[in-house]
Amino acid sequence: MTTIIDGKAFAAGLTTRLAAAINDAGVVPGLAVVLVGDDPASKVYVANKERTAKALGFHSLAHRLPASASEAEVVALVRALNADDAIDGILVQLPLPKGIDARRVIDAIDPAKDVDGLTAVNAGRLVLGEKSLVPCTPLGCSLLLDAFAGDMRGAAAVVIGRSNLVGKPVAQLLLQRDCTVTLAHSRTRDLPAVVRGADIVIAAVGRAEMVQGDWIKPGAVVIDVGINRIVTSAPEKAGDGKGRLVGDVAFAAAAAVARAITPVPGGVGPMTIACLLQNTWQACRARRGLDPA
Ligand code: NDP
Repeated sequence: MTTIIDGKAFAAGLTTRLAAAINDAGVVPGLAVVLVGDDPASKVYVANKERTAKALGFHSLAHRLPASASEAEVVALVRALNADDAIDGILVQLPLPKGIDARRVIDAIDPAKDVDGLTAVNAGRLVLGEKSLVPCTPLGCSLLLDAFAGDMRGAAAVVIGRSNLVGKPVAQLLLQRDCTVTLAHSRTRDLPAVVRGADIVIAAVGRAEMVQGDWIKPGAVVIDVGINRIVTSAPEKAGDGKGRLVGDVAFAAAAAVARAITPVPGGVGPMTIACLLQNTWQACRARRGLDPA
C-alpha cells in the first residue's frame, strides 16, 4: 500500500512543537522578510510567511520595497536588519526584480541570520558537513524522508534539478544520510533510465508531470517539489478559474508503484514555511546563547 505523505499534517506537528518550545523559552524570535517589487506569487508567499510566523508567537515584519528600488537600497535594508538586535532571521524573497544582483543581496545577509540558508557561507558549511542554516525547502524534503523513507544508507537517490535553492542542497543532505546521489539536470542523458534505478526520487524541475509513472522503480520513495499551475480547458474542473496545481511527477501513475509519495499541493509546500520558522528558532537560540554548551 502506497503512503501518501501528508506534508500539511507533518508541518503542523512541527510548528506545534516549535510554538511550545518558544513559549517554554519565553523569548520572541524575530523574522524579517524582504519583498521587492510586485510579483504576485511572491506577495502571497510573503503574506503567508508573515501570518504563520505571527500565529506562532514570532515578531514578524515584512519590509516591502517598490520594484524601482536600487540594489544599494535593498542591501542597505539588509544591513540595517543585520544590525537590528530584535531580528534573528532575514529572508529576501526571490526572485528579485531585473537589475538587482540576487547573489550580492543574499551575501549581504549576516550568515547567523540567514534563515533561507542561501549565503555562500551557509552553502559552503553544508557542503563541508558543518552545522549550518539549511535552505528551507531542502530541509523540508529531508525531514519528510527521515520520517517516511526508513534507513537511507546506501540507497540510490536521484535528484532532478540542480538549482542552488533546491537541487544542490537536497543532494548534500542526501549525501549526509549516506545515499549514493545522482544529481540530474536538463543535460542528463536518458533521464528515465537514471530515475528507474533510484530508491529515492526528488523532483525539483518546474515542469508539470514530467516524471512518468513508468520511470519509478517499484517501492521507491518519491518527493515532488515542483509547483506548476496548469490551465485546464474544462472550466468546471479549473476550480477558481486559474487552473490547478500539479507537481513535476505524474502523481496517480507514480503513486501506483511508489512505496511513498508526496502530493502537490499538500506535500513539500507546507514544509517550507515550517522549516523557515524552525531555522529562525535555530538562529535565535544560537544568537541568544540558548543552546546548551
Ligand atoms: P530552477 O528553474 O532554478 O531549476 C530547475 C532545474 O531543473 C534546473 O537545474 C534545470 O536544469 C532542471 N531541468 C529543467 N528542465 C529539465 C529537464 N527536461 N530534465 C531534467 N532537468 C531539467 O527551479 P527551482 O529549483 O527553483 O524550483 C524547481 C521547482 O520547485 C519549481 O516548480 C518551483 O516552483 C518548485 N519549488 C517549490 C518550493 C516549495 O516550497 N514546494 C520551493 C522552491 C521551489 P539546468 O540546470 O540544466 O537548466
